[in-house]
Amino acid sequence: MNKKNDLPQLEVHMIPCLEDNYGYLVHDPDSGFTASIDTPEVEPIMRALDEKGWQLTHILNTHHHYDHAGGNLELKEKTDCIIVGANKDADRIPGIDIQMGDGDTYLFGKHEMTILETPGHTSGHVTYYFADSGIAFVGDTLFALGCGRLFEGTPETMWESLQKLLALPEETLVYCAHEYTQSNADFAVTVEPDNGDLRTRKTEIEKLRARNKPTIPTTIGLEKRTNPFLRPDSENIRATVGLRDASDTEVFAEVRARKDRF
Ligand code: ZN
Ligand code: FE
Repeated sequence: MNKKNDLPQLEVHMIPCLEDNYGYLVHDPDSGFTASIDTPEVEPIMRALDEKGWQLTHILNTHHHYDHAGGNLELKEKTDCIIVGANKDADRIPGIDIQMGDGDTYLFGKHEMTILETPGHTSGHVTYYFADSGIAFVGDTLFALGCGRLFEGTPETMWESLQKLLALPEETLVYCAHEYTQSNADFAVTVEPDNGDLRTRKTEIEKLRARNKPTIPTTIGLEKRTNPFLRPDSENIRATVGLRDASDTEVFAEVRARKDRF
């Protein structure tokens, strides 16, 4: 991993919630800071904190949807934690204390966290990036082999957001908010059937899911090689969707539209 200092690495603990959501706790052993990435469900988050012996100090919201911010107020009342979210969505993030915008940084203990605005799924969606630990919490922007639905954004907006994530180091660990990987893989092979890396990955995913194991985290590098939403330059994808000479944005838009109908 791209360790840029001698700080103890952040620990990430995954918490399956609701139907197919993942909540995460991020813990800094040095400062004791512990953040909940989104608040899909209060009970399992409180139980995980208890099991780990960690005290919740922060909530980092990626976006306002109920399966991401629905537990904010109850967790704040129980733990007195600080709620961080997008300044653009301040009126939709319950209990928000700290409002942040694109490129803003925040010291999580001694670990610098950077906010990246990644709109498209919602207009105020953000990603939390911890450069020294090489981890990114991308919410519903990027999924393993997928990307978020465009509820409040155009394909142009989402493609720009995805390009921001593509610019992160390839080894960056990507923690997304849902286990959608199996169905994303089923779709991915329909638009890029000739991608050998994708076929190999699909088999691995099927093995993991058969044992009810998570497919997360993924990495930026793996997504670059296999995620059809990040590969509008692929000749195979362009041929499959019949857009050989279109722009990357147009190809992305068509792939997204096909997934919506899949
Ligand atoms: Zn969402
Ligand atoms: Fe969601």
